Amino acid sequence: MVEKKTKKRVKKLREKIRKHEYKYYVLDNPEIADYEYDKLMKELENLEEKFPELKTEDSPTQRVGGEPRDEFKRVEHSTQVLSLDNAFGKDELKDFDDRIKRNLSTDNYEYIVEHKIDGLSAILRYEDSTLNIGATRGNGRVGEDVTHNLKTINSIPLKLRKENIDLELRGEVFIKKDGFKELNKNREEAEKKSFANPRNAAAGSIRQLDPKIAAKRPLSFIAYDLVEFEDSKKNINSHLQALEFLKELGFNINWYQKCNDISEVIEVCEKWVEKREDIDFEIDGMVIKINQLSLREKLGSTSKNPRWAIAYKFPAQQKTTKVKDIEVTVGRTGALTPNAVLEPVFLDGSTVSRASLHNEDEVKRKDVRINDTVLVQKAGDVIPEVVKVIKEKRTGNEKEFEMPNKCPVCGEEVFREEDEAITRCTNISCPAQRKESILHFVSRDAMDIEGVGPSIIAQLLNNDLIEDYADLYYLKKNDLIDLKRMAEKSSKNVIEAIKASKDRDLNRLIYALGIRHVGSNASRILTENYYSIENLKSADKDELVKINEIGPVMAESIVNFFKNENNLTVLKKLREADVKMEKNKSEKEKPQYLKEKSFVFTGALDHYTRREASALVRKYGGEVKSSVSSKTSYLVVGDNSGSKYEQAQDLDVDILNEDEFMELLKGGH
Ligand code: AMP
Ligand code: ZN
Repeated sequence: MVEKKTKKRVKKLREKIRKHEYKYYVLDNPEIADYEYDKLMKELENLEEKFPELKTEDSPTQRVGGEPRDEFKRVEHSTQVLSLDNAFGKDELKDFDDRIKRNLSTDNYEYIVEHKIDGLSAILRYEDSTLNIGATRGNGRVGEDVTHNLKTINSIPLKLRKENIDLELRGEVFIKKDGFKELNKNREEAEKKSFANPRNAAAGSIRQLDPKIAAKRPLSFIAYDLVEFEDSKKNINSHLQALEFLKELGFNINWYQKCNDISEVIEVCEKWVEKREDIDFEIDGMVIKINQLSLREKLGSTSKNPRWAIAYKFPAQQKTTKVKDIEVTVGRTGALTPNAVLEPVFLDGSTVSRASLHNEDEVKRKDVRINDTVLVQKAGDVIPEVVKVIKEKRTGNEKEFEMPNKCPVCGEEVFREEDEAITRCTNISCPAQRKESILHFVSRDAMDIEGVGPSIIAQLLNNDLIEDYADLYYLKKNDLIDLKRMAEKSSKNVIEAIKASKDRDLNRLIYALGIRHVGSNASRILTENYYSIENLKSADKDELVKINEIGPVMAESIVNFFKNENNLTVLKKLREADVKMEKNKSEKEKPQYLKEKSFVFTGALDHYTRREASALVRKYGGEVKSSVSSKTSYLVVGDNSGSKYEQAQDLDVDILNEDEFMELLKGGH
């Protein structure tokens, strides 16, 4: 039995710690020194250690705890997380206001203008005043459960400052400018790749299975919307009241300003274009929201955006600098890309010293010459681009660029198809392509093989020790020892790193394959839908484009990749080397009830979208086909089913309704 006195002390300590966390992280007005805070924490930790029965999920000690997870769980959002429509410039803000006026037939409304914080959104659910689930936005309907990481953020209360509250709110997870600089400095010192910008760093921290990583990152959280809250007293009628309520509950809330009409809104937005530099985190615009909640409801939303809000996007920051040279690089598809080598300039939070000029036509169109003075900006995220040449600054020393007619890497002919903008190296065994594709394979977001860098890859290729990335798995220690800068020990490490990568998650492998147009996000989506390389290989174009995020170009590229004999040989080598080609082990061990069964769907289901239903079938080992044949095991019939129903009857295929299908998924057959 724990003594009453101890219980009381634990309660008291938790209250104290919460209060000080609130003062420090939210009010930015600490009352005690760090040292004293640490002392309170230590005392609480000791007591919880001694009396484990006193431990609770919402205790301040539980921010960083817990074991790494095996995989992310899905979270269905209670209300779809829509994205915001964008307004570039004041005319588009006026259009937005006109639409609102027309829709409401009144001009009796107010706007709240907020910062558009450049991080990633998080959706938090509290039950009985305790943080229950924190999720990412995902596709808007379903996100990923990242509670373990969000808990490590000190400005997210584990317990609200009022009792008996159930609610859902949204906010932004981000990293402040100085925290970001520090983080990158530390990474550089540790010889790790630095992050491109604070947003990537924040997103990368939240998408980790092990909370210890997020705990080490300087993450912050600001709440900007209350989504669900039973307000029996009807105290909250406006966004302002909602924000103030969130503040009382213990959240950092977004900066805001109330505006009575669109001209005030425009004034505020334009003022912040310059002033954004003064805040200690990155904002990429302003968000304008209707204040009155009843009017929001009246306005509703389109399938993509709420009609009552819009994001004003800041114009990209631009600076002038000099083009020192124009260099041509060869990518892994053989494409030759001209790049402007720039006098370094500091732009939107990082130093820019190169800008892509994309292709020959682009260089001609912009008329960029070596020694020109140019205006550069960061387009969207990270890729800096040359906006235009400042022709007045020309001195006559400028040199025009000419696309080489030989590959700068292998010296073979290059070729440009008539209606194509891209010039390519025609040599299928051009080391640039091989080297780039292997470099991509080992890169951090792909198979993450440490110690295999550009120099080793070049040597392995030159010595004919490898031809493609699959060959890495067949290297022996002795193959490496003779290479430059390799010794017994480092060879062993490299071999071990390669071996360790055999177990990477399927989404990394899909990304690593280097299928054109398939980035790491698309790879995740493909993983969620297909569960194995084998499944993905048999997907056809029609089926792929049914997935929301996959467009026709990507679908075609995927199908082509798996048609290519060369690629199939490489895949075979990977498989024979025992590289994992299915989703996580835990998935693999899931009972394969549906093995060797094939399914066709017709009509709409109530509980699942077509895509979700297909994913479930594949998860349990089954296959999904688009048309009925005599080999089909089951036809699953929803509302408004089509001609497939008759076909199935003719062919004597088993027909399931939705309930029967769900039974089958449970393994109840
Ligand atoms: P977008 O991704 O361009 O559709 O913009 C919507 C995103 O802006 C949301 O998902 C949030 O992550 C982010 N955001 C940042 N600040 C705010 C804010 N004050 N209100 C709403 N969304 C915001
Ligand atoms: Zn070449």
